[in-house]
Formats: sequence, C-alpha cells, structure tokens
Amino acid sequence: MIKEEIRQQKINKNIELRCTNPDYNKLMDEALGYEHRYFKDMTCNNKSIKDLFKVEYFNEDGTSKGKGDYGDLPYITISDWIIKEKQIKSQGICYNKQLEIIIKKDLPKLERKSAFLHEMIHAYEYDLGYSVVGKKIKEIILISLHKEIEKQLGKRKLNKVLGTITNVLFWDDNFHSLLFALKSFDLDIRLNQPFGFVYGYGKIDFFK
Ligand SMILES: [Zn+2]
Repeated sequence: MIKEEIRQQKINKNIELRCTNPDYNKLMDEALGYEHRYFKDMTCNNKSIKDLFKVEYFNEDGTSKGKGDYGDLPYITISDWIIKEKQIKSQGICYNKQLEIIIKKDLPKLERKSAFLHEMIHAYEYDLGYSVVGKKIKEIILISLHKEIEKQLGKRKLNKVLGTITNVLFWDDNFHSLLFALKSFDLDIRLNQPFGFVYGYGKIDFFK
C-alpha cells in the first residue's frame, strides 16, 4: 500500500475513534483552540506565510508579469491527530507515525499547557515534512519566525537567543530542530513566559 493511503487510513481511524469517545473530543477542542490562536503559521494560514509563498513571474524581456501562488499550500490541521491523556513518565509524547499525541494526566495547569503546545509543534513539523511543498514551507516558516522574533526582541537579544538554541541543538538527545526552537520561543513570547517554557515542558533552566 502506498504511504499516502496508509496515512489516510490512520486519519480516518483517528476520526472514528473521536466519534465514539467524548474525552477525545474535549482534548481536540482544546487543541483546535490552540491551533487557531497560536499556529496559523504552521498550518499555512497566516498572511506572512502566504505572501512569502508567492513567486514572481517574468516575461521573456525580463519585465515582471506579477506575482502568483507557487502552488497549493498543504492542508495541515491537528484534527487529523488523536490526542489522549495518560499516566506516562514524560510530560508528553508525540507518536508521529500514529498521528497521536499523549499528554501526561493531572499535570498542573501551566505545565499542561506547555506540554500540549510542545507536542503540537512536533505534530505540525511532522505534517509539514510529509510533502515536498510542506518541506519548502518549513523553510519559509523559519524565516517568518526569525523576522517576527527579531521584531519582538531586537537584533542583540535575538542573537543571544540563537546562540543558546544552536548550543542546545548539539546536546539535546531528543531531536528538536531550529524551527522547533524558534516556534517554541515565539509561543513563550506570546504567552508572556520565560524562554524555554514551551521547549522544556515548563522548565526554563536551560535558557536562563
Ligand atoms: Zn519534544
């Protein structure tokens, strides 16, 4: 069976599961709320991503024909995933191939939110990496996040943050990419939390 069919089956199964279990729906409502508030970039739904996705077409004499879309943006949504709460050791787990996120049960409110958002970044990053266009969009999101964080922090502070991130990339055993790190800092800023809040499940020691 081709990869796309297996993926579609998984998505259908996740939707079926939600139809028969109200607890999953509650978690999905929460995730969709976060998606709407915080992840318009990762789902290709904000203006700056759409603008950066446009290409300029030229006539043979080199004059511009104007801008157009490069193609269709990928359809990315957390509602393809199943989200569960379970008693697990870590704060959260993202099983990419299963399209499944697990959040530890009974976490304090803020820690729970950081774990939820952390695992959602993993999910979107996996979904974006799934298609050729999505892989290109990942690079575009990276530029857009860099610009946005620079606007918030200024060049000097951003450079300091980038220094920390690049260090972290080498000693972090669980893979977190540069895109992941920048998105987590974007959320820290928007949630008015210290750096590392989303990256480290509420633990901020690494980024002090
Ligand atoms: Zn992680």
